Amino acid sequence: MMRVHQDYWQNASSGYRASKKVSELVEEARAEVASLIDARPEEVYFTSGGTESNNTVIASADALLGSEAKIATSQIEHSAVLRPIERLETAGRTVHYVPVNAGGVIELDALRSCQPQFVSMMWANNETGVIQPIKEVSEWAREGGIPFHTDAVQAVGKIAVSVQECPVSFLSMSAHKFHGPKGVGALYVKEGMRMQPAMLGGGQEGGMRSGTEDVASIVGMGVAAKTAAAQLSSKEQQIRERRDLFEQLVLEKVTGVSKNGELHHRLSTHSHLSFQDCEAAGLLILLDEYGVQCSAGSACMTGKQQASHVQVAMGIPEERAKSSLRFSLSHTTSKEDVSYAAEQVARAVKKLRSVQTTGIGPVTVYTP
Ligand SMILES: *Cc1c(COP(=O)(O)O)cnc(C)c1O
Repeated sequence: MMRVHQDYWQNASSGYRASKKVSELVEEARAEVASLIDARPEEVYFTSGGTESNNTVIASADALLGSEAKIATSQIEHSAVLRPIERLETAGRTVHYVPVNAGGVIELDALRSCQPQFVSMMWANNETGVIQPIKEVSEWAREGGIPFHTDAVQAVGKIAVSVQECPVSFLSMSAHKFHGPKGVGALYVKEGMRMQPAMLGGGQEGGMRSGTEDVASIVGMGVAAKTAAAQLSSKEQQIRERRDLFEQLVLEKVTGVSKNGELHHRLSTHSHLSFQDCEAAGLLILLDEYGVQCSAGSACMTGKQQASHVQVAMGIPEERAKSSLRFSLSHTTSKEDVSYAAEQVARAVKKLRSVQTTGIGPVTVYTP
């Protein structure tokens, strides 16, 4: 990325010779990103991230569908899918929010029975890490000729994602979820699918997404994709072992802890735990002070006091939902990190529980 800024700063779409090299760098990155999901480079368009990819597909579906057509999504989608779909609903479109079971897996029968004309369903959930039955949904959608979008932002680069094995129509990705730069992502559009671009202008990205390419970020995403593809299974195994160790240590040290989400179908990078009689908001502040950065719900939910919609959809009682934390790991997380984090979790829970039982004011306003 530094080299692009310094040596290849020309506009990728200009006519002079130096631009040719710049556009080649963009195409190399496109090939890497396409290869990561088993797509062809012509089917991959760069965007500013997962949010833009999701919004583009949903707005396009709305524009291309008849006004009577129904949309189905799930109750546990990221806000970058739910908010744009809610806007369509406000404007009069019928939307079905497919429920999930207690493990956070979508109910396939409920999806099939609502007979939608467009479906948007995430590959893996950002809070619990639970992996959804995308193969089944994509095959069912293909048979019925239903355009199917998947927000695969949490899955790409963490687990094997193949648009050949799972024949989706549209797929959203984001570089910063697999160690790439923030502010760049991509959208896969299956060849032959109709798509209405959100950005009109100079016709970059084959007319699908106008605007001068952010070449450095695109190159960064390409490198991240290449690295992720090369190390996918070995890293996944390592992360899984550390995550399992983390959960084992926390359960040994702390009473009243429960794990959330279907345990055998979740990303190895995620651990979602509830701590009885401990408000997540207070735990977050203490853990941050102790050097452990985690979150309650998603980053986008921070600061909001209501229980996460994902946990509500899973039927987790409000009190337990408000005492849940999400821990994320990557291949850079060492065994030492994991045991340090588990120690600090035990310390924070102990402190918070003692404050609560001695009655020093409400937990939500507690500052260390
Ligand atoms: C992070 C995330 C997004 C948003 O991606 P950005 O690139 O940050 O806009 C969308 N969906 C899911 C599931 C995510 O985890």
